[in-house]
Amino acid sequence: MNIALIAHDEKKQDIINFAVAYTPVLKKHRLYATGTTGLKIAEATGLDVYRFKSGPLGGDQQIGSMIAENKMDLVIFFKDPLTAQPHEPDIAALIRLCDVYQIPLASNIAGAEIFIHALERGDFDWRKVIRNRGEHEV
Ligand code: PGA
Repeated sequence: MNIALIAHDEKKQDIINFAVAYTPVLKKHRLYATGTTGLKIAEATGLDVYRFKSGPLGGDQQIGSMIAENKMDLVIFFKDPLTAQPHEPDIAALIRLCDVYQIPLASNIAGAEIFIHALERGDFDWRKVIRNRGEHEV
């Protein structure tokens, strides 16, 4: 499965802890991340993470583009609800595309914990069927 990992600055430590805790699960999948998040996860875990641009520089939009092309299966995006972000429109656009294409999205660590267990159980394997069909059906 292709998994996107993103965390705003105040949530970086959460996603590092999450990635460390679930490295054995995450290493079975292809990981993508916005620039700084990906760097921190790779440094902390040794996981192979494809890094897009930093979020404020277009990384969220690059991940959104993968969603639109039916190439992203799961998004784990630890948002900071207490700090204004310069790239708020990009964040809204990414979340919107998850909803347009029904891509599972966890926006905090509590949801992500559930996702990771669901991933292990195969609850998201339906994404493989949709992805192999090619184009999304909206
Ligand atoms: P970053 O981007 O991983 O490069 O910090 C995340 C974001 O702020 O959207």
